[in-house]
Amino acid sequence: MKNYTSELLEQWDREYIWHPFTQMQEYIKDSPLVVERGEGSYLIDIEGKRYLDGVSSLWVTVHGHNKKDLNSAIEEQLNKIAHSTLLGLANVPSILLAKKLVEITPPGLNKVFYSDSGSTAVEIALKIAFQYWKQKDGGAFSKKIRYISMGEAYHGDTIGSVSVGGMEMFHDIFRPLLFDCVHVPAPYCYRCPLGLAKPSCGMACAQAVEEVMAKSHHEIAAMIIEPLVQGAAGMIVAPEGYLRRVRELCSRYNILLIADEVAVGFGRTGKMFACEHEGVTPDLMCLAKGITGGYLPLAATLATYEVYQAFLGTHSECKTFFHGHTYTGNPVACSAALANIKLIEEERIIGGLGEKISFLEQGLKRFIGLAHVGDIRQKGLMAGIELVKNKGTKEPYLWEDNIGHKVIMEARKNGLVIRPLGNVIVLMPLLSMSIPELDRVLDITYHSIAKITG
Ligand code: PMP
Repeated sequence: MKNYTSELLEQWDREYIWHPFTQMQEYIKDSPLVVERGEGSYLIDIEGKRYLDGVSSLWVTVHGHNKKDLNSAIEEQLNKIAHSTLLGLANVPSILLAKKLVEITPPGLNKVFYSDSGSTAVEIALKIAFQYWKQKDGGAFSKKIRYISMGEAYHGDTIGSVSVGGMEMFHDIFRPLLFDCVHVPAPYCYRCPLGLAKPSCGMACAQAVEEVMAKSHHEIAAMIIEPLVQGAAGMIVAPEGYLRRVRELCSRYNILLIADEVAVGFGRTGKMFACEHEGVTPDLMCLAKGITGGYLPLAATLATYEVYQAFLGTHSECKTFFHGHTYTGNPVACSAALANIKLIEEERIIGGLGEKISFLEQGLKRFIGLAHVGDIRQKGLMAGIELVKNKGTKEPYLWEDNIGHKVIMEARKNGLVIRPLGNVIVLMPLLSMSIPELDRVLDITYHSIAKITG
């Protein structure tokens, strides 16, 4: 016997929960969608209504909801132990997972530092990079304490990850708390921050990175980048070759490259990791979101041996990396991640993505015919549809137009959950979604945009 009704849950949600990234004064005006169950590509609310999950429950779900193999892997581990600590102890799933991660990530990454969210994976990479230069060659490089990050970057919500963030709306309020970073122009070709256009620009945005590095490399510890796609900024897809160029520049100027694969890792772009598209091995790589197939919070920061070895020494040398969270390397989460990767391999998920990616690409083409669709950006199974007030001038909708929100609420009425990023409608279908389901995601999105923008 349930001790709640759907009305009570809605009331308690409004009364007790402070939702993330949410203007609560607005949120409480709408009726909340309270999810109770999941089944494959569907979320099911407390009334039993089914919704296609068009954003993979915030970019994490890989094989669908309520996947038997993942449920069983978790159950099996729960029957052994739910948690033990990695401080001074080891546990079986975290060892097996670390070995697996080293095997599947780009060659050269061979040490795994666990945490619980994308933000902490980034925080760890930033701290490792800082400490690495302090300790390398007896402190010969200890002036390397700053970071280069991208305009429009999003790397998480902790103070360090916000410091390397570049999204005015999310990050500016915290400026006084943040450490200083050098921001380079985002490769946002639709609205080029340098006022140029492809291809005559000659990838001037990469040239700008070189200029910063040439001038300031002696004080730069690392450059952090979302490889290929700046997700939270509205799916900004970098031009081909940009990432490779950044890698070359980092190597040339003795700067560590941190690849934040939190959003793009685990198949999202059509390869297991986005760095693979350009044959890049970063010095540090951040993983989270899809790592457990969307089941449990887990993150990992991978490092090269070159980075790791700068932390080796006796106790008295104080080279230890003093960082760690209570649930670091949680065995249940690591078991879920192992089962997730096993399924990706056994079910040949990555190989099967090609057809879905082309289907999405074809299906998105007709959106450009809509009067207020300015740009469509896609990489793999992630896409952003940028809505504009005026297509000719690219005049954006105003914040108060709340256009993205209106579109996603219309989609919700029709059984699809999607999320806007400002004026960009984001599609992040589950990797396991079938073609007919993808078709439905596209169809509902198309009609919702058409209806709301007129
Ligand atoms: N990095 C990137 C590229 C992300 O997209 C996100 C989350 N959207 C994060 C870091 C932060 O991850 P989390 O929300 O798990 O802290």
